[in-house]
Amino acid sequence: MSETCAVKKVTENTPEEVARVEEWINSEDYREKNFAREAVVINPVHACQPLGAQLVAHGFEGTLPYVHGSQGCASYYRSALTRHFREPAAAVSSAMTEDGAVFGGQNNLHEGLENALKLYAPKMIAIFTSCMPEIIGDDLNAFITNARNAGIVARDYPLPYANTPSFNGTHIHGYDAMLKSVLSCLSADKKVEGKDNGKLNLIPGFDCNTGNYREYKRICQEMGIEVTVLADISESFDSPLDGTYRPYPGGTPLDEAADALNAHATLSLQKHATTETIKWFKEQTDAPVEVMPSPIGIANTDAFLMNLAERFGKPVAPTLKAERGRAVDAMTDAHQYLHNKKFALWGDPDFLAGMIAFLLEMGARPYHVVCSRGSKKVGKYLQALLDKSPYGQGCKLWMNKDLWHLRSLVMTDPVDALIGCTHGKFITRDAGIPLIRVGFPILDRVNLHRVPYIGYQGAINLLTAIANSFLDEVDRNCEDKHFEMMR
Ligand code: SF4
Repeated sequence: MSETCAVKKVTENTPEEVARVEEWINSEDYREKNFAREAVVINPVHACQPLGAQLVAHGFEGTLPYVHGSQGCASYYRSALTRHFREPAAAVSSAMTEDGAVFGGQNNLHEGLENALKLYAPKMIAIFTSCMPEIIGDDLNAFITNARNAGIVARDYPLPYANTPSFNGTHIHGYDAMLKSVLSCLSADKKVEGKDNGKLNLIPGFDCNTGNYREYKRICQEMGIEVTVLADISESFDSPLDGTYRPYPGGTPLDEAADALNAHATLSLQKHATTETIKWFKEQTDAPVEVMPSPIGIANTDAFLMNLAERFGKPVAPTLKAERGRAVDAMTDAHQYLHNKKFALWGDPDFLAGMIAFLLEMGARPYHVVCSRGSKKVGKYLQALLDKSPYGQGCKLWMNKDLWHLRSLVMTDPVDALIGCTHGKFITRDAGIPLIRVGFPILDRVNLHRVPYIGYQGAINLLTAIANSFLDEVDRNCEDKHFEMMR
C-alpha cells in the first residue's frame, strides 16, 4: 500500500505512552477506577436471554427454534452454539426490520410460521423473542391466536412461546422461561389424577456439556431408574457423523415430555436457572419436586445419588460406589498439586456453586469468584459456600462484575489459575497463568463439551485437567536442573 492511501490513524501514541498505559492497567490505581465504572460492561460473563431459550428448543424432539425479532440476533445465538458444539444450531427468524419495528411483527411472524412449517416440517416450533419486539410490545399470545384463527397453524399444533427480553436477565432466565413454556404447552390436559408413571423428570439446567447429559442418563440407568431428561441436548449437539443428514437429531421425545406431570418425581440440578419451571411444577403436581446443587464434586454427587436412592427406594449401584472410590483415590493422588492453590472463576450461579464446592473439597481456594448477574440472595448463597470451609476464608465473591474487572483483580491480587470459558483467555495471556476451560462457550479448544464434569467421573476429569495443566506449566517453565521425569 502506498503512503498516500494508508489509513490515517485518529490518534498517534508514542511507544513510551503505550508502555506506560500497559503497565498502568495492571496497577491498584487502575483497579480502583475500573471498579468505579458504571456505564459500560466489558467482556460480560453472560449471554442474552434468547440464547438460553434456543438451547431448550434444541433439547426437544423435532423442534425448530424460532426467533421472533431481528435476524442479526438469531445469527448471534446460532453462531455461539455452533462454535461451542461444532455442530449446526439450526433456527429460523421472523427477520423483523424497520417496518416491523413501526407496525409490529405480526405479519413477519405469520409469514415465518408458514414458511417454516412448509420448508422444515418440524413437530414443534418453539418461539422466543429478541429485544426489538419486546421494546415495541409485540403480543405473542395474540399473534399466535390470530395465526391459528387464520389457519396458518393447526389448532392442536404445539407452539410454545417465551418472552425473552435481553435487557433484563441473562441466558439462564431465557432457558427457564422457554422450558416452562414448552412443558406447559405439551402437558396441557395430560395430567391424570392418581397416575404415577414411575419415572424421574431430571432437569440439568443451562448446561452446554453433552457429556454431562450422557452421564446423568448413565447414572440413572445404573440405579435402575427410568428418566426423562428435560431438555435433552445430548444427541442434538453430539450426533454421530455417519453420512445421514438429520435435521432434528435427538431431543426429549415429545410424548415423554407431555407425560412429565405424571412422573414419580422431578429433580432440578440448577436452582437459579429453573426457578419459574420449578414453581410451575409445584403448582401442577402433588408429586415431589426438588432442587439440588449440580452434582459437581464428591459431596454434591453423594447427595444426588442418595436423593435418587431414597426417592426411588433403590440402593446406590455397586458400580457407582466403585466409581466413588476411584474418584477419591484420584483426588488423593492429585491433592498435592491443588492444595492451597488460588483460582479465579466466573459463570452462572449454579455452575459457580458446584465449582466452589469441588475446589474446597480439594483444599484449593476459589479466590476471586465473579458472578455476572445475580441478586443479593444469590450472593448470600454463594458467599455461604465459601464461608463454611477454612479454604474459603479470604476468598472474595464479586457479584455483577465482568471479565475486565476480573482482569484487574488477577493483575493486582494474583491467582494460580483461571477456571471458566474461552472469554477468559485474554486474562490468561496477560497474567501468564493457565486457563482450565469449563463452561460455555468454549470456542478455542476441541471436544471439551463432550468431557463430563458432573458425577464422580466428572470429578476425576476436572482434577485431572487442573493438576495436569499445573504440571505442564512446571515442565514448560522450570530450569534444566529441575526438569524431571517424575512429577
Ligand atoms: S441483547 Fe438483544 S439485540 Fe442484542 S443480540 Fe441479544 S436479543 Fe439481540
